Amino acid sequence: MMKLPGVYIAGVWQHGPQALTVINPSNEQQLAEVAGGDGAAVERATQAARAAFAGWSSSTGAERASVLRAIAEGVEARRERLVFLQASNNGKPLAEAQMDVDDVIATFRYYAELADQLDAGQDCPVALPSDDFVARLRREPCGVVGLIVPWNFPMVTTAWKLAPALAAGCCVVLKPSEVTPLAELELACVIAEAGLPEGVFNLVCGTGIAVGAALAADPRIAKVSFTGSNAVGVQVMQRAAETVKGVSLELGGKSSLLVLEAADLELAVELACMGGFFNAGQMCSATSRVLVAEALYPDFIARLKTRAEAIRVGDPFAGDNEMGALVNQAQYQRVRKHIAAGLEAGARLLCGGERPIQLPCGYFISPTVFTDVPLDSALWREEIFGPVLCVRPVASEAQAVALANDSEFGLVASVVSSDLSAAERVANALEAGLVWINAPQVIFPQTAWGGYKQSSIGRELGPWGLSAFQEVKHVVRAV
Ligand code: NAD
Repeated sequence: MMKLPGVYIAGVWQHGPQALTVINPSNEQQLAEVAGGDGAAVERATQAARAAFAGWSSSTGAERASVLRAIAEGVEARRERLVFLQASNNGKPLAEAQMDVDDVIATFRYYAELADQLDAGQDCPVALPSDDFVARLRREPCGVVGLIVPWNFPMVTTAWKLAPALAAGCCVVLKPSEVTPLAELELACVIAEAGLPEGVFNLVCGTGIAVGAALAADPRIAKVSFTGSNAVGVQVMQRAAETVKGVSLELGGKSSLLVLEAADLELAVELACMGGFFNAGQMCSATSRVLVAEALYPDFIARLKTRAEAIRVGDPFAGDNEMGALVNQAQYQRVRKHIAAGLEAGARLLCGGERPIQLPCGYFISPTVFTDVPLDSALWREEIFGPVLCVRPVASEAQAVALANDSEFGLVASVVSSDLSAAERVANALEAGLVWINAPQVIFPQTAWGGYKQSSIGRELGPWGLSAFQEVKHVVRAV
């Protein structure tokens, strides 16, 4: 059994005192044991990051850009290994694991471009309504930052935080999910070879309580960027409040796909399946509520049932499976409980809801579709984080928008319609940070990621992702 060091501080790999068991969810076998860190490791990592900060924060944008490009190249060079680790540790189909690696590369390249532009933008003059003063604007890194990531898109979430943090000139302590640390451990090896000064990047694997909470509490950490559940996001914010730390939070979602009257049904069914079953539905952006114009509803659910039942579920390394396993037993049981509670609440199961009979082992659940879901049920209101769709007919565009917006979350939405002016009007009315029209959930590093209401605080990606790690300073001088 592989025993991997789970702590990387100031350029040195270390074995921490916490034994983390890492499994392959497709066959329930142990993949590795990671020797994760504890509060003392966080202490040392933060110290190392603090010591490296003066040097890294005063490097030029161009210098940082070249390191980011080297990381992108390193990821490219280790593509196969990273795909393998993502697929084995997450149970993702290979095509999805490849998309994750592509996203990581694109993110590091994009922030290399933004880092390059920093030098020319630094110290730009500020127009003042007085000739007696001159002012200049500086954007400076906010300090040592703690990055805490979940298990569903581990490497991607890490890249969305790490690339802009390094571009801004911050030093970093990264905490991967204890469930899926393998790809990030490999990514850390890439980073170790990319020419970063020692102590700029540090990693401490471990549990939320031992490592995550220590990061959120450490007074030397200027900011915590967290992606995960709302319950833990609240705890991170509470701890961070004690030392008035900045927080960026990317939390849960209960998003909708709106199939308007003029929709192409085939496209709508395809997008419903992608929005509900990609990554086995373990997406904060899952469009798990599907709202269908009444006139299309009977045809839509008949086609959706056929398509959902045809999805090939199984091990990423066996055949050309389209959907993989849930990440671990806890998540499998959580989703099964949601399905049982939905049935108890009176929802009607259209398909799925069980483990596929041909897969006795692994944390698999068939693509599941419910209709007639009560609007006050947990199935309709809560994030399921599994391959479960709730479909409902709507009498009008206004009703579709009202139902989509009736949520404590507001992360994303999708709209399907060949009537583009109707689609754009609906997109404007939705309370969501990102709306796709007639498109799968494409994500570009240039467009922001984050949502309204309890889905987020702040935005990742784009220039917003960079400014999340910057302080604004004005220097005003009397002439
Ligand atoms: P989680 O909240 O349980 O854990 C997330 C991370 O926080 C992990 O690294 C965990 O170890 C750590 N953690 C746990 N307790 C902690 C504590 N007390 N203090 C500090 N850190 C702690 O979430 P998860 O189960 O890993 O991921 C699933 C959740 O993540 C879902 O709710 C999903 O919606 C959310 N998510 C959101 C986005 C987004 O961009 N909005 C993206 C992916 C996942």
